[in-house]
Amino acid sequence: MGQCLRSRSAEYLPVDLPGWTESQREVREAIAKICSKYPDEYWMKAGSEEIFPWELYKDLSSAGWLRICLPEEYGGSGLGISEAAVMLQTIAESGTGMNGASSVHMNIFALEPVERSCFGVTEPNTGLNTLQLQSTAKKSGDYYTLKGSKLWFSTAQIAENILVLVRTTPIEECQKLSQGLSLFYTDLNRNSVQVTKIPKMGRNAVDSNALFFEDWKVSAENLIGEEGAGFRMIMHGLDAERVLVGAETLGIGFAALRRASNYAAERSVFGNLIGKYQGIQHPLAECWMNLEAARLTLYLAGDTYNQGYESGEYANTDKFLASEAAFKAAERAILTHGGMGYAKEYHVERYLKEAMLSRIAPISGEMIKNYVGQRVLGLPKSY
Ligand SMILES: Cc1cc2nc3c(=O)[nH]c(=O)nc-3n(C[C@H](O)[C@H](O)[C@H](O)COP(=O)(O)OP(=O)(O)OC[C@H]3O[C@@H](n4cnc5c(N)ncnc54)[C@H](O)[C@@H]3O)c2cc1C
Repeated sequence: MGQCLRSRSAEYLPVDLPGWTESQREVREAIAKICSKYPDEYWMKAGSEEIFPWELYKDLSSAGWLRICLPEEYGGSGLGISEAAVMLQTIAESGTGMNGASSVHMNIFALEPVERSCFGVTEPNTGLNTLQLQSTAKKSGDYYTLKGSKLWFSTAQIAENILVLVRTTPIEECQKLSQGLSLFYTDLNRNSVQVTKIPKMGRNAVDSNALFFEDWKVSAENLIGEEGAGFRMIMHGLDAERVLVGAETLGIGFAALRRASNYAAERSVFGNLIGKYQGIQHPLAECWMNLEAARLTLYLAGDTYNQGYESGEYANTDKFLASEAAFKAAERAILTHGGMGYAKEYHVERYLKEAMLSRIAPISGEMIKNYVGQRVLGLPKSY
């Protein structure tokens, strides 16, 4: 007798998705169990009242999940990015969207179980042109003085520690643009760093901030690795982050599709279930195909990363495909619900706002296409 590979899009967090290993399935099952304690209403409230989801965070932390990628000798689970991706996809897919996934994202992708820390690169005047960062650190004796500003620092309202990338050697003295940037990990001293929350479209349970610092003294012991090698250090981690963000947004897409499929199978108009009308059914079928294609690319990217490949093209591609597929699924979920799609009660408007985020951050779709155009197609750089 033949076997069936199918999981229905209307199911809540199916475990037996094709292509997943036993260990990925185990992660899925365990995380789904934890997330089932937190219904959509919890996330609607957390977002609208801007409350950090400490309950979920602590549940995941106490069960050791924030150490999923940490080597076993340091008390971690020693699992790879592919398992971490399942974890974040599952969190988002349970209905948390980015509000749940972003609350733990930093702990996973920085591969460090540091509670309450934040990480930032983006600056107001340089945008995606990271190599032109203008914030500086000048050494004097056994400390550095940091001066500059950062934008979109996630979780800086609650963070105790901060990982920050700044320039330690003026750009004109460097042979390559990627040189002269350094990473510091230190306490977030609010006497020296002004932190201002940015009001925003969605993901409001997790704060985003503008940072300003002028005379911020940081001990030289807080420099990570070699001075000037900060950019190289974050680059490898950024590929992992692309896979994880892709997984999070994929989760939102599947959550939106689940709600849309269930609604289409229950709502009757003109004497028929709306799911019977091809104008409703076919776009949802397309959403499933796009999401599933993105999922297969994403887990390929995770596996190649785990195997040590410089898999930038797959990490970027999966993040792009997942973001586009999730956004389309969230949009379709609203249209499938008609007027009720616009009501908060059905949660799909929240999913749409959250699916928008991964199209912009941590890298935009335009920059991913630039990357593929240049690195894969070998075409000239336009900027
Ligand atoms: C909610 C949220 C949370 C965030 N959290 C963090 C965080 O914790 N830490 C952190 O460091 N950053 C964070 N970010 C910042 C995020 O990574 C940046 O917003 C993102 O990288 C885009 O940079 P930018 O906003 O400066 O856009 P810009 O660089 O100003 O780009 C604007 C537009 O121009 C396009 N563009 C720019 N250059 C090119 C080019 N060469 N070719 C084609 N198109 C181009 C971009 O694709 C984009 O559409 C966050 C952002 C948001 C919205």
